Amino acid sequence: MLSEAHLTEGMRSVFVELLVHGPLSRAEAARRLDLSPSAVTKLTKPLLQDGYLLQQPVGDRNAMGRPSQPLAVDPARAALIGVKLTEDELFAVRTDLRAEIQRELRRPLISHDVDDVVACVGEAVRDLTGSGKPPAAVGISLAGTASGGDPVVPTSPFLGWRNVPLGGLVAAATGIPAVVVENDVRALTAAQQWFGAGVGHSSFALVTVGAGLGCGLVIGDRLVRGAGRGTGLVGHMSIHDSGPLCEMGHRGCARAYVSSAAIRRAVATTLDRPDLTFEACLALAAEGQPAARRILEEAGEALGQVVATVANITGVQLVILSGEAVAMYDVCAGAFDAALAAHTHWTSTPIDVVVKPFTFSEWARGAAVIALQHRILGR
Ligand SMILES: [Zn+2]
Repeated sequence: MLSEAHLTEGMRSVFVELLVHGPLSRAEAARRLDLSPSAVTKLTKPLLQDGYLLQQPVGDRNAMGRPSQPLAVDPARAALIGVKLTEDELFAVRTDLRAEIQRELRRPLISHDVDDVVACVGEAVRDLTGSGKPPAAVGISLAGTASGGDPVVPTSPFLGWRNVPLGGLVAAATGIPAVVVENDVRALTAAQQWFGAGVGHSSFALVTVGAGLGCGLVIGDRLVRGAGRGTGLVGHMSIHDSGPLCEMGHRGCARAYVSSAAIRRAVATTLDRPDLTFEACLALAAEGQPAARRILEEAGEALGQVVATVANITGVQLVILSGEAVAMYDVCAGAFDAALAAHTHWTSTPIDVVVKPFTFSEWARGAAVIALQHRILGR
């Protein structure tokens, strides 16, 4: 199914329903998809024959008194590989069909030369595959304007790339034809959509804090990709025209308050302690050191304003906070919540905010989910 082309629209929707919400009885799957139980039986039969679905042990009796046999996706039926490229490193994971990480690795990038990076990705894919079955697809995520079905990376600021046909080069290097390249925040959003806090929500936003500030959107069950110029570009949103400068020269933009580098720089400069790490700055603020506390509260206010603006524009009810620097939330939750309430449109109901603790392998896992979505949905 994931490697052949005979997947019909109906089979696709049943498979996704079972993958994201399963195990489900045929009757429950039929109800959720507004199909008849016999249609579900017909649609799932080839998927059961191909081993993509499993019949679970007999469950409760249904309304007719017959025992129901829930259906579930067999996560071991195929594997995916996800790769995240940063400025100086590559992180890669091998996952099953439910995006559970089976193996992971981390390698330095010896240069930003395209051939070197492709060779490094190829080697990672080979090492993660080992003597096992080749992956059904490979997903690659990176900061930049890369987008789903397009195998070319138009721009990647950290790698200094323009119009690099990365998907085709990695496909040629690995012999795996299905290679998908995606913006890293969108890839992370896809993982939340199918296997995270976004499950059960047809619309939500993911806001990431770390080296920068990112935003991914799912609206009406679709990952929003925009028209090629990127989406969710909230990082340089203006907060205060008398605030600190970001590296692009904007005074008081969100990134100048919220990025981990901006927080670290502000605390270290104010306290004249250039050695302070970001984590040490958070710890000082948590202990009540007044200057560190004020800087974190300003960061929390800026982040609250960004989240409120995202929700005001898109109408989402759920915002997931994640990213390498998400631990800052714990130190500035009060300031964040107050700013969120103050900037949320007065006609809106309060927004649910879910804070997702972060590990770096999540980026590569997101890339694996992008590969999976592309293989199943064709987009
Ligand atoms: Zn800026």
